[in-house]
Amino acid sequence: MARVLIIGAGGVGAVVAHKCAAVPEVFSNIMLASRTKSKCDKIAAEIGGNRIETAQIDADNVPELIALIENYKPDLVINVALPYQDLPIMDACLATKTHYMDTANYEPIDEAKFEYKWQWAYHNRFKEAGIMALLGCGFDPGVTGIYTAYAAKHHFDEIHYLDIVDCNAGDHGKAFATNFNPEINIREITQPGKYWENGAWHEIPAMSIHKPIYYPNIGERESYLLFHEELESLTKNFPTLKRARFWMTFGPKYINVLNVLQEVGMTSIKPVMYEGREIVPLQFLKAVLPEPSSLAEGYKGETSIGCQIRGIKDGKERTYYIWNNCDHAEAYKETGAQAISYTTGVPAMLGAKMILTGKWNGKGVFNVEEFDPDPFMAEIGKYGLPWHEEIDKPLPVEK
Ligand code: NDP
Repeated sequence: MARVLIIGAGGVGAVVAHKCAAVPEVFSNIMLASRTKSKCDKIAAEIGGNRIETAQIDADNVPELIALIENYKPDLVINVALPYQDLPIMDACLATKTHYMDTANYEPIDEAKFEYKWQWAYHNRFKEAGIMALLGCGFDPGVTGIYTAYAAKHHFDEIHYLDIVDCNAGDHGKAFATNFNPEINIREITQPGKYWENGAWHEIPAMSIHKPIYYPNIGERESYLLFHEELESLTKNFPTLKRARFWMTFGPKYINVLNVLQEVGMTSIKPVMYEGREIVPLQFLKAVLPEPSSLAEGYKGETSIGCQIRGIKDGKERTYYIWNNCDHAEAYKETGAQAISYTTGVPAMLGAKMILTGKWNGKGVFNVEEFDPDPFMAEIGKYGLPWHEEIDKPLPVEK
C-alpha cells in the first residue's frame, strides 16, 4: 500500500495514471499533478471511482514542488512531465526524502544534449538521504535496458554487439505529427547520430546512416541510426559491448516534412525576435502540431521495439532477439492512449511497483539495467506488453 505522485498529464501521464489505478494493492493513493489542472481532472474523470486526486503544479519551481510533496506525502514521485523538469523534481525529492523515477534524461532547455551526467551527479546525495532515483523507466529507455540485462543474465556469458530497433508502423492519419512531445522528439532526431564502437563514440550527421530492417509482423521499414540515451548507460554497465547502436524507423513523408522544417529554421532552439518579443521556433512549432495524446483515436497499426544482441555463450557465438509489438488500437481501447504513450506508461507503472514492493531496492541514482530484470520480466506481459524471443537465428539488423 503506497502513495504515489505522478507529475505530467500528457499522453504518458494518462497511461501511468490508468495503470496505477488498476493496481490498488500497490498504489493505494494516487495524485496526478501537472501545469494544466484541467488535463489532470479529465484523466481522473475517465478513470473514475475517485481513484485519482489532482493538483496544479509548476514543476520548474522547487519550493512549489516541496510544498506539494510535503502536503501529499507520497512514497514515490513519478516524473512524466518533460526532461527539463528532471532536476527540479529530483531537488524536491531530495529535500523531502522521497523516491524519484522518470522516463527521459535531463536536457537543458537551451542546448539539446542528452547525457546522464547531470542526473548521475545526484548519486551521493540520494545515497546519503537514503532514497533512490530510478532513471529512464519507459520503453526506450527502460524496457530496452531491462531486455539487455535479461539477455546478459540468462543467454550470454558476454554480450558484444547490441542493436536496439524501434519501429512505429502505425498510421495516425495526420499530415505530420510526433508521437511524444514534439519539442523533445524533434530535438532528439535532429541531433547528430552517435554510436559506440571499440571503446569510443562515433558521431555522424543526423539521419545519414539508414537501411531497411525487418520487424516481426510488420515487414521491412527504413530505419535510421540515432543516438538514444540508453546507449550511454548500457555501454557503461555492460563494458563487454564492442558496439552499441540505436535504430528508429521514419516514413518518407515524415523525413520530407522534417527536412523542410529544418531548412526553414523551424526546428531551431535559438530564440528569434517576433513582433517585439523573443520566441523559440521549435516551441512555436510545438504549439501548432497535434498533441501526442490527440493522435490516439483512429491510430492503426503496431509498434515493434526490441534488442538484437550477438555475443558468446559457453565458448560459442550466440544471437538473441527480444521484442514487443504493441497495437495502437488495443492501447487506445484500454487507456485512451496511442501505443507510444502506452509502451512508455506501462513500464513506468511496473518500475514504480518494483520500487514500492522492494523488488528493486537501492540508495542512490540508478538506471534500470542495474537491477534484477527477472521480477519485471515476469510481470510486464500481464500488464499489456508481452515479449517474444528468438535464440541463435539470423539477426534482422545484420542482413
Ligand atoms: P506531453 O507533451 O504529452 O505531456 C507532457 C506533460 O507535462 C503535459 O501535461 C505538460 O503540461 C506537463 N508539463 C510540462 N512542463 C511542465 C511544468 N513545468 N510543470 C508541470 N507540468 C509540466 O508528453 P508525453 O506524455 O508524450 O511525454 C512525457 C515524457 O515521457 C517526456 O519526458 C518524454 O520524453 C517521455 N517519453 C519517454 C519515452 C520512453 O520510452 N522512455 C517515450 C515517450 C516519451 P501542459 O499540458 O500544461 O503542457
